[in-house]
Amino acid sequence: MIAFAIVAQLSVSVCPAALAVRSDLGCDETSSAVAVSADLEVRRQILRTIEAASARFESAWGTRPSRGAVVDSSGVNGALSAALRSQGVAWVFPWPLLEVARNADGTTDLTRATSAMAHEIGHLLFARHVWTAPSGGGLATRQYATSAPDWLDEVAAASLEFDDRLAADSLARAHRAAIPLRTFFSMSHPAIARDSLVAAIHAEVARRRASGESVSTMQLDMRSQGGLTDLATFYRQVRLFTRFVESNACGTAPWGSLAAALSHEPKVLWPADAARELCLPSEVDALNERFEAWIATRRRDPRP
Ligand SMILES: [Zn+2]
Repeated sequence: MIAFAIVAQLSVSVCPAALAVRSDLGCDETSSAVAVSADLEVRRQILRTIEAASARFESAWGTRPSRGAVVDSSGVNGALSAALRSQGVAWVFPWPLLEVARNADGTTDLTRATSAMAHEIGHLLFARHVWTAPSGGGLATRQYATSAPDWLDEVAAASLEFDDRLAADSLARAHRAAIPLRTFFSMSHPAIARDSLVAAIHAEVARRRASGESVSTMQLDMRSQGGLTDLATFYRQVRLFTRFVESNACGTAPWGSLAAALSHEPKVLWPADAARELCLPSEVDALNERFEAWIATRRRDPRP
């Protein structure tokens, strides 16, 4: 009876409820995905992307994600979200697919735009299914999206990307490990590190000026720039490390076991026991060595 109820809930048709509040849009659905957009091709792309992302998520993280909806462009509003959720849709994500796909030269790149959509869905599913712990307690001083280490949160997003050019580009530009893993595992996402730095500089300038000192924001900013990892380097390292673990780990759903272990030991950089079970080095320096060796091998022979 319970099994029947679950199956019945999953097969519930969501689109009529969505169209009842937004008759100007179109809606398509499968058992794991809902797409709302006025454009038929956009709906097809959305469904395909959510389904592929869900399958990748399950194999990397070991959890079948809940059914979700992507609403194209500015179509999403409170009434539509409420209608979707009332029919059992667990998450609703607005994504202006065609806008994101538009290149500066007027051409469109749907692979890039759907891969970026999958990236964002990765963050969402990670927060929903993997890292459900309340914030605080991690190693980094501030955290990006969840209380998980920022690198792991970003790995969740990168693990769902399917634009192969990103991994290829990361490899082409990689020179050993751009960021030593010991640093990588404890750092804040450079996006928030930059925000924190800017806030700290403004506070420092205000403090010095209050004490009569003549100092400009620019002077302080110039001095501290050197310590920042740039965003592109961080993303490249995330993509490479994601592929490295996925192609070197034994067993299934490697990220699921690593995340579970890390969530139990928030002060640990790298979970030794879980790593050993996945046939990965249990110690960070050994892991770093193996990661660099893998990068060097892949650079010589980048075939997948
Ligand atoms: Zn991200």
